[in-house]
Amino acid sequence: MTQFTHFIMVDWSGGNDTGPRPRKDAIWIGEAGQDPVYLRNRQAAREWLQARIKTGLARDERLMIGFDFPFGYPQGFARAMTGSDDPLELWDWLAARISDAPKQNNRFDLAGQINQRFAGIGPFWFNGLTRDIPGLPRHKRDGYDNPFPDRRACEIRAKGSFTCWQLAGAGAVGSQVLMGLPVLAQLRADFPDQIAVWPFQPLKAPVAFVEIWPSLINDQVHAETGPGDIRDAVQVRLLADRLAALPADALAQMLDVTAPEEGWILGLGHEDLLRLSPLKPPPLRNDCFALPPGVDWTPVDDAMALLRDRLHPVTAPETLPLQQASGRVLAQDLIAKRSNPPLPNTAVDGYGFAANCLRAGDIELPLIDGRAAAGVPFDGIVSECHAIRVLTGAALPDGVDTVVLEEDCSSDGTRIVFRGDLKPGANTRRAGEDALAGDLILPAGRILTPADLALASATGLSDLPVRERLKVAVLSTGDELVEPGQPAAKGQIFDANRPMLLNLIARLGYEPLDLGRVPDDRAALAATLDQAANQAHVILTSGGASAGDEDHVSALLRESGALQEWRIALKPGRPLALGMWQGTPVFGLPGNPVAAFVCTLIFARPAMGLLSGAGWQDPQGFDLPAAFSKNKKPGRREYLRARMRDGQAEVFKSEGSGRVSSLSWAEGLVELPDGPAQIKPGDTVRYIPFGSFGL
Ligand code: AMP
Ligand code: MG
Repeated sequence: MTQFTHFIMVDWSGGNDTGPRPRKDAIWIGEAGQDPVYLRNRQAAREWLQARIKTGLARDERLMIGFDFPFGYPQGFARAMTGSDDPLELWDWLAARISDAPKQNNRFDLAGQINQRFAGIGPFWFNGLTRDIPGLPRHKRDGYDNPFPDRRACEIRAKGSFTCWQLAGAGAVGSQVLMGLPVLAQLRADFPDQIAVWPFQPLKAPVAFVEIWPSLINDQVHAETGPGDIRDAVQVRLLADRLAALPADALAQMLDVTAPEEGWILGLGHEDLLRLSPLKPPPLRNDCFALPPGVDWTPVDDAMALLRDRLHPVTAPETLPLQQASGRVLAQDLIAKRSNPPLPNTAVDGYGFAANCLRAGDIELPLIDGRAAAGVPFDGIVSECHAIRVLTGAALPDGVDTVVLEEDCSSDGTRIVFRGDLKPGANTRRAGEDALAGDLILPAGRILTPADLALASATGLSDLPVRERLKVAVLSTGDELVEPGQPAAKGQIFDANRPMLLNLIARLGYEPLDLGRVPDDRAALAATLDQAANQAHVILTSGGASAGDEDHVSALLRESGALQEWRIALKPGRPLALGMWQGTPVFGLPGNPVAAFVCTLIFARPAMGLLSGAGWQDPQGFDLPAAFSKNKKPGRREYLRARMRDGQAEVFKSEGSGRVSSLSWAEGLVELPDGPAQIKPGDTVRYIPFGSFGL
């Protein structure tokens, strides 16, 4: 089985048109990572699915589309209707007989006609209309006689499921099957050989139809449904996300089912796999960089708030031996397995005894034979008003709760004498005084430091749940660029951004991937972006991000339908092109090295923090007196290349954004607020050292 790339779950409805306003008990379609879509009737749903399958096929996607109604009837029914056990023949048989208009359909009549083929009353029941229908009972009462099993094998197993013979009433699926299978039959006819139906056909086609039952994840749907949410919408989205997050082998396990006639519910018997927290995080939404309409220049804080709101971790959790986990992001809270210290012990070299023999003045205690050292405890009991030799780190022997420092005693080898002004418990460490077993020692999202590894180890942990390192692809665009070391013709310049960005990424603790230089050529850029999207979690490009003729990064992202030109009120930095390329976020940075550098620190860095699982990280700055004057206009925030000398913030002599040397000169940035400012020497300005950005 090849892997599915997209998961689309459909909550079907057997009823009539539900009107223009999204509501419950209607058709809802959820695709992993996208907002659920409301469809008012089956015609609209069919058109939506046709369009989605068409785009999917054009893009070489592999779609798994789930529908929440039975794909087959209990054993024997297909043969009784069509003369064949093949459920897909029954689909076509139903498609030929069901008529469906948005406001009326013949499902109850057809069920009545089918019932009349059999001697007793049944198999269908529950006429939901006001008019009587020949052959179709209103209730399942005396005289009901079902020539077929009441339930499919999978329904016997799925506690709380409804039988497909029941046509109306809360939760009944009978009408959904009658009104659903004909639509699926039509879609199969619309796309011959492109759709495989599970579990009846091998999943070799690009699209698979599978039967789902969202009740399998009821508890999660319940937890995720807030006030005002429509449950049907939540459940299709959640199920799509869960299936998308499954590792391929888990999905393969779920799909490994033999039920050639009745069909099966995907995931039934594997609820544990569906219930697991996602092993692979869900993809980002395609519109995650959308800006509010109508805004011309977005203030920096608004842009940041948007990023903060929309981005979430995209790196998969894994377990690593403690030794290898430094610099990684914790995927879960760490809980101490063992107390530290595990036992009360002595903090110094000296003599241990019980506190109840302490009194004012000099104290003389006889020494007992033996000693306690770190790792070599004393097995016996220290009797009252006796002392024992103890060495730093030794567990306190029974009968000892206080230690006197070696230097504060005189001893002849059989007795010790010391001043009695000690506190009970002096010079000892309590068990668990550092951390108690069960304590939360480090929170999820923490970037593990060497000290954290000490803490984890001390509290009994050896393998740590971390996230894989965020992979960041970096590429430069521009016909004028040449590689350092290569000959440069007139009009050419050396690529300065790529070495800078690649190393900046590494300093931030992420994994840089060098995608090289790309000429100002759309096809070449598209191919490189494809490659980058395949390998990386995030793509940083520089150059070509504005709206000019040679600005191919923005042009391509615009063509792919997922570009947002971010006109951020920020200097230095022309428009940023933020977009999604095949589900991977792209930060289209300006070409000017200074602007590329500042935009990376101010925007890409916190965004990558979120994507990596470490969360949003505001750089810590501090107030300094300015060593410069500046008249700043209102309307945008400014970052000046700066450094601290003699307790003052000085800035680079030129604000030109092509001045690469200014970045080397600087040791941090001075941040000037959005409004106007008249800065004179000695006025307070905010200085953020590069170290605060993690550089
Ligand atoms: P662009 O954003 O492509 O219009 O580029 C703006 C300016 O930055 C132009 O002067 C480019 O030559 C320059 N530039 C673009 N990419 C780089 C790079 N990788 N290294 C140095 N300068 C660059
Ligand atoms: Mg360019």
